[in-house]
Amino acid sequence: MPAGLAGTFLLTETDHYDILIIIMITKKLFSRRKSAQRERIWQIVAEDGSHPTALQVYDRLRLESPRASLGNVYRNLRILAEEGRLAGNKFRDGTFHYDAVTEHHHHFICQHCHRVFDLGLADQKRIYELARSSARHRIESFTVQFYGVCEACISQRKTRRLSSRGKK
Ligand SMILES: [Zn+2]
Ligand SMILES: [Zn+2]
Repeated sequence: MPAGLAGTFLLTETDHYDILIIIMITKKLFSRRKSAQRERIWQIVAEDGSHPTALQVYDRLRLESPRASLGNVYRNLRILAEEGRLAGNKFRDGTFHYDAVTEHHHHFICQHCHRVFDLGLADQKRIYELARSSARHRIESFTVQFYGVCEACISQRKTRRLSSRGKK
């Protein structure tokens, strides 16, 4: 570098390449961190199994990454759904619930705790065939949702009833 330019921000060619490399490494690290968070979000949905909403995924993620943002969670869930790695279903509450099981299956929704469970019904295609053979419309897709009280809520109610009886 000529003496007169020392102290200014004029870059030599080598400096320029160094900066480019630093930018490339930072970008790579940043995108790796972003995709690591996306993977973690996928895992949270898969491990949960109760079809969490974006807010529930966010609450869970924040326990381990306090700086996670809700906007990022929404964005990653949308990307995962676009990639076909997650399914998003709307139930009666009007909110999207995310599911790592992307093949067609039926759901049971607890009206007490609002958790959503998969129902592994043996003859899932039969209902579709029945509708297709009896309707004149062209059926392209279908969903079956069962509503009620889940196993855990039933036993909680029983325990509560028993303990309130014990107090009398
Ligand atoms: Zn329940
Ligand atoms: Zn499901």
